[in-house]
Amino acid sequence: MRSPIPDYLADVVDRCRSDHSGRLADYIPPLAEVEPDVTALALSTVDGTVYAVGDADLEFTIQSISKPFVYALALAEHGIDAVLGRVGVEPSGEAFNELSLESGSARPYNPMINAGALTIHALIGGPELDEETRFARVLAALGRFAGRDLEVDEAIYEAEVTTAHRNHAIAYMLRNHDIITDDPRSVVRGYVRQCAVRVTVRDLALMAATLAHGGVHPVTGEQVVSRAVARHVLSVMATCGMYDAAGDWLSSIGIPAKSGVSGGIIGALPGQTGVASFSPRLDDHGHSVRGVTMFRQLSRDMGMHLMEVPAPARSMVAGSDGDAWRYELQGSINFVGMERVLRTFDEDPPVHDRIVIDLTRVHEIRKVGRRMLHEAIRRLVLDGREVEVHDPDGLLAEPGTIEVGRDPDRREPVRIEVTD
Ligand code: GLN
Repeated sequence: MRSPIPDYLADVVDRCRSDHSGRLADYIPPLAEVEPDVTALALSTVDGTVYAVGDADLEFTIQSISKPFVYALALAEHGIDAVLGRVGVEPSGEAFNELSLESGSARPYNPMINAGALTIHALIGGPELDEETRFARVLAALGRFAGRDLEVDEAIYEAEVTTAHRNHAIAYMLRNHDIITDDPRSVVRGYVRQCAVRVTVRDLALMAATLAHGGVHPVTGEQVVSRAVARHVLSVMATCGMYDAAGDWLSSIGIPAKSGVSGGIIGALPGQTGVASFSPRLDDHGHSVRGVTMFRQLSRDMGMHLMEVPAPARSMVAGSDGDAWRYELQGSINFVGMERVLRTFDEDPPVHDRIVIDLTRVHEIRKVGRRMLHEAIRRLVLDGREVEVHDPDGLLAEPGTIEVGRDPDRREPVRIEVTD
C-alpha cells in the first residue's frame, strides 16, 4: 500500500495555492524578489519519517525560526535560571521588531522577539568570545538540530546587514542598559548571519521534531539539548512564538510554533510531530499567509491541538492468578495513571495476600510514577502482603531484591523481589 499521508499533505498545499493575499517582506531587499507563489510543507514524526510535499527542495533563509534553536543553545550553555535573568518569558503583545524592554528589570520580554534574540545571540560562548567563533557555534548547533551541515546565504546576509537600522537601534538600546556588553554592531552582524542560514522545509520539520522529541534528533539519535531545555523552549514558543498573534494561534491552532519573515513556519507538537511550511507572502503580523492556512487545516484534520483532551488510558487490570492477586499495569505510568492504580489498591483491595504487579505491558514509568509505585508497594508490604514485581524491561528495577522504603516501626528497609 502507498501511504495516503503524502497525498493528504499535497492536498493541503494545493488547496491554498489560489490564495494570493499577503505581501512579500521588503525591508530585506532580496526577500522582495523571490517567487511569491512557491509553497511547501513537511512533517517529521518523532521516530524520523519525513513527508515533504510541494516545493520541498527549495532553500530559503531561516530568519526568526533560528530564535528558538539558538535560545535552546544558550539554555544548554548557561542553564535555564541564568538565561532567565537576562531575557524574560512573557509575551510582549508587540511586533517582533519592537524597541521595548520590561519595565524595572530592563530585560527583553522574551527570546522570540528581536530584542530577546539579539541578547541570546550575545550570550553564546559568553561575552569574551569573538564574533566568528560565536557564529561557528551557532551554525554548528543549528546543524545538529537539522541533522546536516547548514550554510549561510551571504547575499541575504549582506543585504540585511546594510539595512539593519532597526536591529542596530535595538542592540544599542540593549547596550545602553548593559543587557549586552559586546559591541552592538558585532552582535547585530552575528544575529543577522544566524537569520541568513539556508534551510528547506525538511530541515525545519526535523528541527521542530527534535524539540518535540525531548531534544533527541529523530534521525541521528543525538541528544541535541536536554529534555528540560526542549520543554522550556516549546513553552516559550507556545506563548511568544507568534508575537502579537500568539493568543489567537494557540487557541485556534494549538501548536507551539515560530515563524520567519522569509515565509517559513515551524510547529512542534510534543511527543508527536515537527511540521514546517514555506510560502513567502506574509500577513500583517509577519506570518506566512498560506502557512497559517495550512497549519490551521492540519490542526483541524489531525486533532493536533495541544489542548485536545486525550482519551483516558486504561492503566490497570486486576484479577486472581492461582494463589496470587495479579495487577497488570499498562501504558505510560505518570501521575494520573498511578493515581488510578493507588485508588484501586485502596478501594478494591487484593483478595490474596500474595500480590504480583506485572509491568510487562508498561512502556514507560515517569519519575513520579516510580515514586508512587514504590510507596504503594511499601504500604502493601506493611499491611502484611507479599509483593513481587514482574518487570522484564527493567523499568522499575533490574531483577533482584530492591528496597522500596523503610518500615518506621521496625526501623528497617522494606524489600521486595523483582523478576524479569
Ligand atoms: N532577520 C529578521 C529581522 O531581524 C528576522 C525577523 C523575522 O523573521 N521575523 O528583522
